[in-house]
Amino acid sequence: MNSLASLDVAGKRVFLRCDLNVPLKNGEITDDGRIRASLPTINNLLERGASVVIGAHLGRPKGEIKPELSLQPVAKRLSELLGQPVDFITHGSANVVLLENLRFNEAETSKDDMQRSSFAKELAKMADVYVGDGFGAVHRKHASVYDLPGLLPHAPGLLVQAEVEILKQLTQSPQRPYGVVLGGAKVSDKIGVISNLLTKVDVMAIGGGMVFTFLAATGKEIGNSLVETDLIPTVKDLIAAAQSKGIKLVLPTDIVVAPEFKQDSAPSLVSAAQIPSNQMGLDIGPESAASFAAEIRKCKTVFWNGPMGVFEFPNFAHGTKVVAQALTEVDGISVVGGGDSAAAVRALGFKDSDFGYISTGGGASLEYLEGKVLPGLQALGL
Ligand code: AMP
Repeated sequence: MNSLASLDVAGKRVFLRCDLNVPLKNGEITDDGRIRASLPTINNLLERGASVVIGAHLGRPKGEIKPELSLQPVAKRLSELLGQPVDFITHGSANVVLLENLRFNEAETSKDDMQRSSFAKELAKMADVYVGDGFGAVHRKHASVYDLPGLLPHAPGLLVQAEVEILKQLTQSPQRPYGVVLGGAKVSDKIGVISNLLTKVDVMAIGGGMVFTFLAATGKEIGNSLVETDLIPTVKDLIAAAQSKGIKLVLPTDIVVAPEFKQDSAPSLVSAAQIPSNQMGLDIGPESAASFAAEIRKCKTVFWNGPMGVFEFPNFAHGTKVVAQALTEVDGISVVGGGDSAAAVRALGFKDSDFGYISTGGGASLEYLEGKVLPGLQALGL
């Protein structure tokens, strides 16, 4: 099999695609998890005598140079974590070079195969071999992810290898009971994965902003909560499918509401069956959080993606905290899927080591569990 260990890298220049898409606030990195997750492959290559040109992206600049999406702060942090200089853009003396945001060039994300391919050819000139380690971008058909590996001898990096091994365990032979907890803002992002997982899991719990489309589909009053009305019929079908397959679908019974989407908007607790018309649901209530946690603790395999409420506001973070805590207590494998969910658990004070595995890629891990072919994995022969 294609592996990093069998790729000849000594004395060579390696183009390493990483996922360094970290959250920034006022130019400061607020969570460096993705940089840390990239270190094992970088160190492996350096120890084996390679020099490394790292290509990565930050945000969605859509082909324009946006100073606030520069990777400069990442170069600085990477240099601190590696304990050695990292040249930024310039091809100077350092063994590690980080290229500026690849997405400043519109060809990186272009839908035009020729345009992407000619950009990939330019990138290929910078190196002798390619290592793909940007798990958070492997679901994208982008030049540095999909086209470039075909132009150079290539292998997956250690992070991509580890991510795929975990996801394989979840899809091929999960220990049962197997539970999935989904949250986050939008149902539309998760319809595919819900529908596919309904044939695989024993229990599915749903919270977050997306739950109100489920509550509306079961005829509940949801007040001013987030809802995707056009998806109500689809959600009704999903609920019926869960019922007919004997899958336990757990929805919240109580909801923390507030009049406005604001940090200091006054919270109150109401029944999930009847959210007042002038209030919006911003977190699952304590009774629901306890019942989600009880389901999680019974499982031998758990996958979680998406916060249970607006965890960025302390008054609405309780549900997410309780669910995260239950995941740390699973007697089996617990997987936190997603860059945002990972950043959320760290922001709430949990450590990476509290969980079985924290995936660096939200979209990528969801599409994998959805059963899709991921272009970046396909290109690496995985
Ligand atoms: P996602 O990127 O889809 O995983 O969504 C994450 C976002 O969903 C977070 O920023 C949360 O603040 C938001 N969220 C969670 N619950 C709610 C809710 N009840 N209403 C509005 N937004 C929510």
